[in-house]
Amino acid sequence: MTYKHFIDSDICKGCGICVDACPKNVLEISDKLNNKGYFPAFQARPEDCIFCAICCTMCPDVAIAISEIEEKKAAQK
Ligand code: SF4
Ligand code: SF4
Repeated sequence: MTYKHFIDSDICKGCGICVDACPKNVLEISDKLNNKGYFPAFQARPEDCIFCAICCTMCPDVAIAISEIEEKKAAQK
């Protein structure tokens, strides 16, 4: 199964909890503001993500999700 990691940058308030929690140092805080005026987290090194979901669990605003992608769709990407 292939997974997709998604951060809703307009829900994120840039607290940085996920950045500190990630065991693989995947996440960073963007230098671009979101719609609410916060600097949101993003995956700076997505290739290092092991989809452990620690960031999803830690985010107080539930801004991060990991979803499964069907193999067929994943193969097309
Ligand atoms: S799923 Fe795990 S490895 Fe991937 S960004 Fe979140 S905490 Fe880091
Ligand atoms: S923990 Fe959630 S709100 Fe905080 S920076 Fe990460 S995604 Fe944004």
